[in-house]
Amino acid sequence: MPELPEVEHLRQTLAPRLIGRTISRVHVKRRDIVRSLPASHSTNHGRSTRLRRGLLEDCRITQLRRYGKQLAIIADGNTPVLVVQLGMTGQLLFIPAGDKPHRNDHIHIRWSVVSDPPGDHLVFRDPRRFGGLTLCDSLAELESRHWANLGCDALTIRHRDLHGTLGKTRRAVKAALLDQQVIAGVGNIYADESLIRAGIHPLRPASDLRFEETRDLARAIRLTLRRAIRAGGTTMRDYVDGNGQSGRNRADLLAYARGGKPCRFCGSVLQHIVVSQRTTTFCPNCQPLYSSTVCPQARKGSLTELPSTV
Ligand SMILES: [Zn+2]
Repeated sequence: MPELPEVEHLRQTLAPRLIGRTISRVHVKRRDIVRSLPASHSTNHGRSTRLRRGLLEDCRITQLRRYGKQLAIIADGNTPVLVVQLGMTGQLLFIPAGDKPHRNDHIHIRWSVVSDPPGDHLVFRDPRRFGGLTLCDSLAELESRHWANLGCDALTIRHRDLHGTLGKTRRAVKAALLDQQVIAGVGNIYADESLIRAGIHPLRPASDLRFEETRDLARAIRLTLRRAIRAGGTTMRDYVDGNGQSGRNRADLLAYARGGKPCRFCGSVLQHIVVSQRTTTFCPNCQPLYSSTVCPQARKGSLTELPSTV
């Protein structure tokens, strides 16, 4: 399931393809992929016109912005904002004129992009349809009514913010990290990766973490996400970027999907448990449940490449 690094890499690969370009036509194959219509555009136009306008027909794209796992496509003028949620299997692909999408099935929306020669287009593909598109009236509405309900963006999470928000809950720290209202952008892969890097057991009550532990966890989250973005994200099965390329971060995973394999820090066999109905992999040696002493082997090198500011 795409998390923050995959959506950020998607944003980076699509931005040079789309910014400054105009959408000439929108082709809607599955209406139920679009979750809502902007209210202020609902009175003067027909339903179909409203939908195409909400999907940015005749609009010029000026920005692609990400918050957590969500990607917003923003156009100039007083136009709606289109928010893309990839869900489990969603893909947003730019197809240059003359090229064909690598898969033609499950394409629900297709945008024709003005180009010379004509033929560039963008497609939203989602076989399992847990993803979708949400239309907002404006960027201000998106930020104040939707993104304001999410926690801090994980890529720039500050220690004091993480310590404050985790201190409010007795839930297992892994469960808290998966809650987008606690921290936005972390899912199952990067929660496991960040916890092993910080040497914290996934079942520790979040509010029990000491100040130094939440400091290490904030550093581990930022480091883990930045490394994954540099590798183009993690592709377990479906994720591809805006150019159809898979991510390369799977080879660097420390814990996720490595149950039964040796810990890369200490050699102990990684174990898996279920937390919040999600398979969770950890090292029983590097991530002790009861002791607050972190295995030195885990710490050595696990928090390197830290940014200079905490
Ligand atoms: Zn270990």
